[in-house]
Amino acid sequence: MDYKRLAELLFPDVDKTPEDYETMYPPRDLPEGAKVTRLGPSPTGFIHLGNLFGAITDERLAHQSGGVFFLRIEDTDEKRKVEGAVDVVIDTLRYFGVEFDEGALKDGEKGAYGPYFQRQRTHIYHCFAKKLVEEGRAYPCFCSEEELAAMRERQEAEKANFGYYGKWAVHRDAPLEDIERELAAGKPYVLRFRAPDPEGKYFKIRDAIRGELSMPVNDMDFVLLKSDGVPTYHFAHVVDDHLMRTTHVVRGEEWLATLPFHVALFDALGWKPPVYCHTAQLMKIDGGIKRKLSKRKDPELSLDYYKSEGYLPGAVWEYLMTVLNSNFEDWRIQNPAAPMGDFKFSPAKMGVSGSLFDLDKLNDVSKNYLAALDAQTVYDSLTAWAKECDGEYYALLTRDPAFTIDMISIGRGDAKPRKDISHWRQSKEFYSFFFDELFRQEDPWPENVPADDRAEILRRYAESYDHSDDQSAWFGKIRAIAEELGYAPQPKLYKKNPEAYKGHVGDVSAVIRVAITGRQNSPDIWAVSHVLGEERSMARVKNAIG
Ligand code: GLU
Repeated sequence: MDYKRLAELLFPDVDKTPEDYETMYPPRDLPEGAKVTRLGPSPTGFIHLGNLFGAITDERLAHQSGGVFFLRIEDTDEKRKVEGAVDVVIDTLRYFGVEFDEGALKDGEKGAYGPYFQRQRTHIYHCFAKKLVEEGRAYPCFCSEEELAAMRERQEAEKANFGYYGKWAVHRDAPLEDIERELAAGKPYVLRFRAPDPEGKYFKIRDAIRGELSMPVNDMDFVLLKSDGVPTYHFAHVVDDHLMRTTHVVRGEEWLATLPFHVALFDALGWKPPVYCHTAQLMKIDGGIKRKLSKRKDPELSLDYYKSEGYLPGAVWEYLMTVLNSNFEDWRIQNPAAPMGDFKFSPAKMGVSGSLFDLDKLNDVSKNYLAALDAQTVYDSLTAWAKECDGEYYALLTRDPAFTIDMISIGRGDAKPRKDISHWRQSKEFYSFFFDELFRQEDPWPENVPADDRAEILRRYAESYDHSDDQSAWFGKIRAIAEELGYAPQPKLYKKNPEAYKGHVGDVSAVIRVAITGRQNSPDIWAVSHVLGEERSMARVKNAIG
């Protein structure tokens, strides 16, 4: 077979040689050990937690080693393409603190290894496809959909593996005249890889996350170029990551199954494969069962969710690090105030069998994160969020900024700061009682205080209340009210001798708490009353007396 002639026939427009491209995209001039990573999203307009998960891994590997992290848009699938999707990728990742050094931009691109949009790289793919054809490593296949379907049926009947390989690869050794005839008739074709005869059944490869893997040697004549000349993922991945000099490919574990394709292709092209890092799927526990996060069922899969719920990007990043690296939490406990960049991120510390994503855990991490912020920072971020996502709340928060700052300051900056807020939308539920418009009695009155006592407690509290009392004088008065009404002034007295009392001071203050905050659990009532002011807190007490 005259492969050279076949290559000319198939790719008459290729005007460069592989060497030209090797010269155009030389190895990067980076320090020893610097890693080059990339994110390769398809521009579908939907960017999800898995993308951020991968992007953080890429970003850390590159930037922690003095390397480069770039954005390549994998837009070979025209059907899935959505207008403005590149902006969504860039804006969303930037919101979460992930920046690219090179690659696709909102308007154009930057960097010496482009184009960074796969659609604009057709001439490059065709050049290398031509080389493979010239060397007998690729060939055109004219099978129609129907022929492939019929083949599949026969394979099923014979209990053979599915796919285009071995004796099933009917166009593999077609004579040149046949191919010429089909081409002249304008018959559509795909370009297939010619899998070499396997030497041995398995090969070994090291994955930076999974360690040494043993994989079956590829025997499939998989597709390199589709009938419209557009490359498959497999071919584009190999050509791009070679020419863009990617050193580490971080991608989802769904690509593990076709890793043998990629290794075979690198080999056929005489290139060294990158280090692969196959990340585990994000899973959640649903009704006691671990399952993949789903776009349809789980709003938390979308990154927009975190933005619109008002999670701070730093908190989400902090949480994802706990999922990504098993030793991050210990490190954080030992280095509570250290910047994230000080943590030594390692792919070897990543999970291999489903990374568990847990919103409750995110909320916990986020509460810690928010508790450490100062009141002004919280005010700025909270109001910025409310302005966009909750106009009613925004109006309340900004009506009297000094009041809002006082409210936010309760329990903040203490040795053990309060951890009430996980995200801004939830903060509205928490802070609602500070605003008369949202205040309502959410919890019942304490059960063990009869209604008569309740009114009496509140009456006496209102009578004895002096807004200038300090916290201990104030609490002394509550103790006295307790005692006068037959409640132990200290819980331990009650515990020792429950028969002697109706209850204890905690029951009495719970009545006052429900009157002022509408809840049985709230921050310190004295502090709350000083934020609300004498008039408003007393109005609530009087209102509760009825
Ligand atoms: N476009 C591929 C995807 O979205 C990228 C996979 C990769 O990073 O290689 O799954």
